[in-house]
Amino acid sequence: MTKKLYLYSPELGADVEVLSCREIDSGRYAVRLDVTPFYPQGGGQPSDVGSIGDAQVLHVVTENDDVIHYVNQLIPLGKAIAQVSANVRNLHSTLHSAGHLLAHVLVSQGWLAIKAHHWPGEARVVFKASTDIPAIDLEVAAVQQLCDAAIAQDLPCKITINENQYRQVTFGEYTPYGCGGTHVNSTGELAGLRVVSMKFKKGQLTFNYDVEPVITSVEQQQ
Ligand SMILES: [Zn+2]
Repeated sequence: MTKKLYLYSPELGADVEVLSCREIDSGRYAVRLDVTPFYPQGGGQPSDVGSIGDAQVLHVVTENDDVIHYVNQLIPLGKAIAQVSANVRNLHSTLHSAGHLLAHVLVSQGWLAIKAHHWPGEARVVFKASTDIPAIDLEVAAVQQLCDAAIAQDLPCKITINENQYRQVTFGEYTPYGCGGTHVNSTGELAGLRVVSMKFKKGQLTFNYDVEPVITSVEQQQ
């Protein structure tokens, strides 16, 4: 079982042990590590990319209890440095956290988030009414205002993991969601959130949105 460091720490670099590296097809190898800072695709969030030693990490998935890193060259077994790309992680964390924020603010309007997809260019959250009578007197501008108010409060991200390894995530005092994703430090980093459109169909309300990530590191300025 690969230990998933990103569940416990936002640290992007880690000393790792390469346990196996097998060729999948020409120029593509599957790598298992003892521990990993790489987020594997899942939960509506794309995978991290980056490097392990000299190899580029192109894609990361979960396979049973292991995290599998697809890389572009053979990596020797033993110790190596793993490094997640800060730009890509930041974009994904911002998109994912913006989905949390939409879900949080729409609870007060009688809507419960049931599905989320946090991919660049196609991010959306789908809601169902929490009562029998859906209140669809919402407008994109009003939802944007609700988000902007929460962003202005710069609410901190709070992560708890209980003794059964159940991880809950929230911002400020909103009701937490069970979540294994990566997040921004506070809602202030979601200042570039734009609610793009709203669609009501078959009892479900879908909000499409986009983000402009806040630059938080030297690497991201390059
Ligand atoms: Zn989350």
